[in-house]
Amino acid sequence: MRNFDYLEPATVAEACALLKQHAGEAKVFAGGSHLTILMKQGLYQPKALVNIKKISELKGIQFDAKEGLAIGALVTHREIEISALVKEQFPVLCEAEKEVANIRVRNMGTVGGNLASGEPLTDLAQIFISLDGQAKITGPNGPRTIPIEELFVDFYTTSLAEDEIITQVVIPPLPPRSGIEYIRFSSSSVVDKPSAGVAVRLTLASSGETIQTARIVLGCVGATPVRARKAEALIAGKILTLQLAEEAGSIAAQECSPSSDLRGSEQYKRAIVRTLVKRAAAKAYERAASS
Ligand SMILES: Cc1cc2nc3c(=O)[nH]c(=O)nc-3n(C[C@H](O)[C@H](O)[C@H](O)COP(=O)(O)OP(=O)(O)OC[C@H]3O[C@@H](n4cnc5c(N)ncnc54)[C@H](O)[C@@H]3O)c2cc1C
Repeated sequence: MRNFDYLEPATVAEACALLKQHAGEAKVFAGGSHLTILMKQGLYQPKALVNIKKISELKGIQFDAKEGLAIGALVTHREIEISALVKEQFPVLCEAEKEVANIRVRNMGTVGGNLASGEPLTDLAQIFISLDGQAKITGPNGPRTIPIEELFVDFYTTSLAEDEIITQVVIPPLPPRSGIEYIRFSSSSVVDKPSAGVAVRLTLASSGETIQTARIVLGCVGATPVRARKAEALIAGKILTLQLAEEAGSIAAQECSPSSDLRGSEQYKRAIVRTLVKRAAAKAYERAASS
């Protein structure tokens, strides 16, 4: 590794000012689980690291019945996994976190880093997008809020400016008659990043049977997480049957762009997506109908 300046701002404003001052040559450092590896490999050689770990306004998880769940950017995977508040409001997140990496990475890795890395083989973005989650971002010109879907641009590329910081993820309260399921598949028997991860959230109409809103989000099968909008359109306005769930899976499998790699061939990954969408839709529907 090359030498670098190590900076420890106490506030978000200070951190943004430092990033601006070192324009293009500084990197935010949170848990370091992603960044350290890339620095050791020489892929990133920042002249300065802006460690945000001491910024208290980036910590904590809160729930407000109107605003929803607010997760600070510095909240770790492990904190989500064991949070009673998250378990009560969005148990799907606690369940998903149990499968993320290993306990060491879960203790270090943060929500902000997970999203800001733009790494395609991750889990949280799919779930957040299916729940219409928003990212709160602050830069030298002040705060802005965007749908999490709009963060992702390409492999390891986000829409964040170099001097911006993700401060919080906000998930609005789940509408009545909603159900969500997330299923990830890892092709390896050892702890590994997923080959595919599918989140499905369904909200039923007041009749209790027809799907009013459908979110089908595919992860790890392309440069960015992607909403399978054609599959969503297919099931919206209908009662979910096994055949319809299967059709949605087949359509969704064509709405992603997996590449062949160590985690499976393109065809294999499309087959996984087909199956995961079918299973996740059936489970989400069951949950919505019984909520
Ligand atoms: C062995 C291994 C297995 C893994 N398995 C999984 C898995 O199964 N599922 C999964 O989802 N993830 C997995 N990951 C990825 C892991 O989730 C991320 O590495 C972690 O969440 C990143 O958080 P961090 O705080 O360590 O980020 P850092 O390494 O500190 O930073 C990552 C990137 O984000 C930027 N950044 C960090 N925080 C912010 C912020 N608040 N605002 C703006 N930019 C910011 C940094 O500048 C850097 O570019 C795995 C990682 C490893 C090493």
